[in-house]
Amino acid sequence: MQLLSSQISGFIDKSSWIRKMFESGIALKKQYGADAVCDFSLGNPDVPAPAMVGEILGNLAKDAAAPFTFGYMPNGGFPWARQIIADLVKKEQDVEISADDAILTCGAAGAMNAFFRAVMEPGDEVLAVAPFFVEYGFYASNHQAVFRTVMSEPDTFALDIDAIDAAITPKTRALIINSPNNPTGAVYTKEELTALVAVLEKHTKANNRPVYLISDEPYRFLAFDGVDVPSILPLYDYAIVMSSFSKNLSMAGERVGYIAVTPRMEERQQLINGLMLTNRILGFVNPPVVGQHMLKAALEAQVDPAIYERRRDAMAKVLSDAGYDFHLPKGAFYFFPKAPGGDDVAFCSRLMEEKILAVPGSGFGGPGYFRLTFCVDEEVIQRSADGFKRAISGF
Ligand code: PLP
Repeated sequence: MQLLSSQISGFIDKSSWIRKMFESGIALKKQYGADAVCDFSLGNPDVPAPAMVGEILGNLAKDAAAPFTFGYMPNGGFPWARQIIADLVKKEQDVEISADDAILTCGAAGAMNAFFRAVMEPGDEVLAVAPFFVEYGFYASNHQAVFRTVMSEPDTFALDIDAIDAAITPKTRALIINSPNNPTGAVYTKEELTALVAVLEKHTKANNRPVYLISDEPYRFLAFDGVDVPSILPLYDYAIVMSSFSKNLSMAGERVGYIAVTPRMEERQQLINGLMLTNRILGFVNPPVVGQHMLKAALEAQVDPAIYERRRDAMAKVLSDAGYDFHLPKGAFYFFPKAPGGDDVAFCSRLMEEKILAVPGSGFGGPGYFRLTFCVDEEVIQRSADGFKRAISGF
């Protein structure tokens, strides 16, 4: 009996790499004990949330008995929470935005779904720069859009502006960029973004229809070596920022995120009204109450990026001592090295024999590479060194 739609059955197969690694990880840990396995497969931040998050929860507990503490609210979130987002975005993006230009969502994932639901006509295209966060394709097809990708520059993973220009069609409704990037660790420069915007402006004008630029930024806080993460909202009339507190406050499970629209967009209230409706009718109804209270901590404290920078350096040493070919990540918490021998799936299987869990780049539209996450303790990184050496020696 066919219980699932053919589309979802197909998606389950398509998303099998991360799932497979997750399941293999559970099996390996069961067999050898969690301490024997070096699990670099999941981007689930292990650094605890800042202490201030706990304090805010304590304060909220005092109000728990009051009516409506956990009640419904306007679909875009509490007005005071929208103001917090506006203040944050103003600081990060250097634009004058008001609480009316931002809404709270259920994570960046919920933000993207609400956005696509609000702007896509059936058959419209969403273009993403590959390698890419694998969920983008599913989110696009949730809303009848066709998902397409365009490769970044080999090795550096910088934007390939000519390739993006060539990939845009009259059906392209949105381009997604993600900087700092999952899975490559790339951070786009102001020059790249300015060139990108010129291309988008050209197509928007030619088709008399906006090509939205979605900047997915949950890793904005995590750039290394003093690298600047340029703001996108001041650059383009149809720029949208989506982000969340999943990574910078280690609150991935609490599902609180946001969308902010550039004040350059003259008729943005129309878009915001649409987003409020889609946030509601997709079944989110409104963003989580507790998460909104917790994000008060965002302006005060976030996870110390130095912890991740130390881990990045430790992992870079492990990989270069073993002879891997990789581009040092400028941000986020991922390495995306070349798979020795070129077959990423075969190489990840070889790593698994060493009890090292990595995800084949094919799962991110980047075959020939593999992804390692460094949201694990430094001890795990050090412990993996011999396994990485043994694995590469046979390839
Ligand atoms: N975008 C990227 C690039 C991510 O890596 C993730 C999560 O790992 C998300 C979006 C979704 O984050 P959220 O937990 O805010 O939905």
